[in-house]
Amino acid sequence: MISIDNFNFNSKKALVRVDFNVPLDKETLTITDDKRIRAALPTIQKILSDNGSAILMSHLGRPKNGPEDKFSLKHIIDRIVDLTGAKVHFANDCIGVEAKELSEKIAPGEILLLENVRFYPEETQGDESFAKQLAMLGDCYVNDAFGTAHRAHASTCQIAQFFPNNRMCGFLMQKEIQSAKAVMEDTKRPFTAIVGGAKVSDKVLIVENLIQKADHIIIGGGMAYTFKKALGGQIGKSLCEDDRLNICLDILKNAKEKGVEIHLPKDSVIANDFNNNANINTVESNNIEDNWMGLDIGPEASKDFSEVILKSKTILWNGPMGVFEMSSFEAGTKSIAEAVAKATSNGAYSLIGGGDSAAAAKKFGVEKAISHVSTGGGALLEYFEGKELPGIRAIEA
Ligand code: AMP
Repeated sequence: MISIDNFNFNSKKALVRVDFNVPLDKETLTITDDKRIRAALPTIQKILSDNGSAILMSHLGRPKNGPEDKFSLKHIIDRIVDLTGAKVHFANDCIGVEAKELSEKIAPGEILLLENVRFYPEETQGDESFAKQLAMLGDCYVNDAFGTAHRAHASTCQIAQFFPNNRMCGFLMQKEIQSAKAVMEDTKRPFTAIVGGAKVSDKVLIVENLIQKADHIIIGGGMAYTFKKALGGQIGKSLCEDDRLNICLDILKNAKEKGVEIHLPKDSVIANDFNNNANINTVESNNIEDNWMGLDIGPEASKDFSEVILKSKTILWNGPMGVFEMSSFEAGTKSIAEAVAKATSNGAYSLIGGGDSAAAAKKFGVEKAISHVSTGGGALLEYFEGKELPGIRAIEA
């Protein structure tokens, strides 16, 4: 497999799949967070400084029936100019005569941004002839869109076949793959996975797969209460999926057989309403009164979980320990964020993935103290569920 580090883009037109699916203000259609564009800069800059040109393709939002102004990538042109300092051309259609002409005309050091690839349903259908038309625009292919690596779409997967000898991962993708492998393949033990968030059903596959790999699994957040109820606890009005009680018991049984320790929160911060100003109390997590709900792990649980985290050499964290968006229920998630940061400074490898835990790491100011905060929510989850990611397979094939 070619590595972007050793590839010389001199005089090449590099077709780069980026993930510029950035949030736009609904009224002004200006970018509210340009993190995804910044994340692709190392790849773009390498191409331009090698004296190549970068042809960028991306999706934005979920257009249903062809072009829609609110999903046009033209709204992000100025930000790309600001961030790269390069001349940026724009093709109003990602394939066809205009795109072809512009791709032939752009000079080394310049960028061509193609219009939203999802304006064609062929993109998400993974249509081969659409992929071929995109492929005609460049002479090498770089995939730097980890966020869509779990989708077998035309520009993320099918297109790679047209570049059998000159396709590669971009720097961002490379970093994401390396950090996921550091956790799942080159694992230093003990390996602790922290899984939280709202629902058991969203995390069953990941927990089942982690039982094969981890030494400890910490379960917090709303999903912990389905486990507590399955074990016979009283959980009041806490989040619960009654149709998953047996799955929780199976998970606990399988973990025991494999020698994996599952840690559930001993105590919880409970409230009489889903509201920052509700009455709150701290009780044992399996003894919550009828009209109360668990909205955060309690101080005992924070202490127990932190002890496990501080003894770990590899840490994966997906999903908050409580409703950390509200200050009354943020303490548990904050203490876990701090423990992960401390373990990392003691030499552990830590990976945080999934939108909400990444947002929590940012909120509690520990982002820089983590080995890697992943940009890929769904893609990262599928990787940890043990699935092969089509976008990566297409490059590595
Ligand atoms: P997820 O997307 O599944 O990782 O869930 C994240 C969401 O779960 C966050 O918005 C949290 O506010 C929410 N959450 C975490 N713990 C609880 C809880 N105990 N009760 C209700 N919601 C929770």
